[in-house]
Amino acid sequence: MDQQQFYGRLNDRMRLYRASPLDPARVITITASPDYLASYDGQVAALVACNLLGRLSPSVQIGFPDVAIHPRLPWAGRSLVRHTLDGMRDADPFGSYGTRPPAAGDFRFHLGPDGHDTVVHGSGWSAYIGKGRSPLSLVTSDIGVGAALAVVLGAAHLFRTRFGAMTAPFTCNAWDWTDAPSPVEFSPVGSSLGHIMTAGLGSVGSAANYFLALATRNFRASLIDHDHVGIHNITRSPIFTEAHANIDLAKVDAVAAFLREAGVEDVVVDPVALHKSALWNHREAGSTDVLISAANEFNVRYHIEMGFPPIQLYATTGRNWQATLIQHMPGAKACSLCVFPPDERFAPTTCATDRSITPQTTVGERRTDAALPFLSFAAGLMTAAEVLKLTAPGYPFSAERVMLSLREEPLLVGTPIPHRTGCLCEGRHMGVHELAIAGSRYAEFATKPSR
Ligand SMILES: [Zn+2]
Repeated sequence: MDQQQFYGRLNDRMRLYRASPLDPARVITITASPDYLASYDGQVAALVACNLLGRLSPSVQIGFPDVAIHPRLPWAGRSLVRHTLDGMRDADPFGSYGTRPPAAGDFRFHLGPDGHDTVVHGSGWSAYIGKGRSPLSLVTSDIGVGAALAVVLGAAHLFRTRFGAMTAPFTCNAWDWTDAPSPVEFSPVGSSLGHIMTAGLGSVGSAANYFLALATRNFRASLIDHDHVGIHNITRSPIFTEAHANIDLAKVDAVAAFLREAGVEDVVVDPVALHKSALWNHREAGSTDVLISAANEFNVRYHIEMGFPPIQLYATTGRNWQATLIQHMPGAKACSLCVFPPDERFAPTTCATDRSITPQTTVGERRTDAALPFLSFAAGLMTAAEVLKLTAPGYPFSAERVMLSLREEPLLVGTPIPHRTGCLCEGRHMGVHELAIAGSRYAEFATKPSR
């Protein structure tokens, strides 16, 4: 495949979204404050910035000095510059990626609380982009979520404004999803997250597992997806590479290889759709602690809800530049079919996704999601952040649905999810559901129906 064919396929979903790729003549140079780069949060920012910006643009230079990867991260002790540079080249072998100080005309993407006139900074659960110096206080619990979120916000700003300066300040946090800093020090490190099953390893499901692994490797992973990596998947997933697409690798195998290499010991895969998966259909009661339901084909939400799921966390990307995080507790008044009613024309064999929420285009017989790279990263990060909070006393800390809009200045809105009259969950027996999740790590979150 030549360069033109590669970029045609690479940017296919971006064009379906009616967005155009960034000008490859404009170089993005990633720089960082030395103290920040020595910290866990700063290195998460560097990893995510290189990963995301390298997928968003074929012209990225690393302008920070090399350091050893932080002991709390996967790949500890390796060269941070080598690792991030290899990652960018693996995603786009035709791109221009290298190391050099920022030059005149570059767009400088600066990581840290200060050191440049505009900064991208995260600390603990909080994120800030705007003029330096950052207002965030130092959180030392090495959670990295705020750092990753700041990079996503910065990348969205860069893309939306076509390299406009980040002069308008924006602060938010991933703890209660409000536009204010949160000084919370909570970290899940030290306790297991339990058995996390991911149904759907497309952009959002793979990104959720990527961000989980940056924070902790202390969980069991079950991965279910029937699909294979294509070149059009590369820009929206932090894990998929050109080599994966060339050998038509199953998405579950690509994500499993990433998790194992990062240090997650117990990873099992099932390369089939959820309704055909033995991991899902034959699982023992209480054996799955949390379900990341990131699939939207084959009427998957019907099969999930009829299978009495544990707590479900997922996020969708929308046609108006938003990522929406959704949480369903067993027994809550709204299930996922309340949000995404089965499509009568296609049920029960095809996609049940509400097309007013997820943009889809029909390509032949297949429907295809379109999204922008930073929206998929945002959706995966929001999902991972929720999973990482499950062991925190007092969880949950936000509404069942939280929308992050990046179309203009960032906007975060939390709303409860109403029950949909006539939904299939009305006939579901709470006692049976309680038995199905009994013994799972987060069964205490199950609520009695209030309707
Ligand atoms: Zn329902």
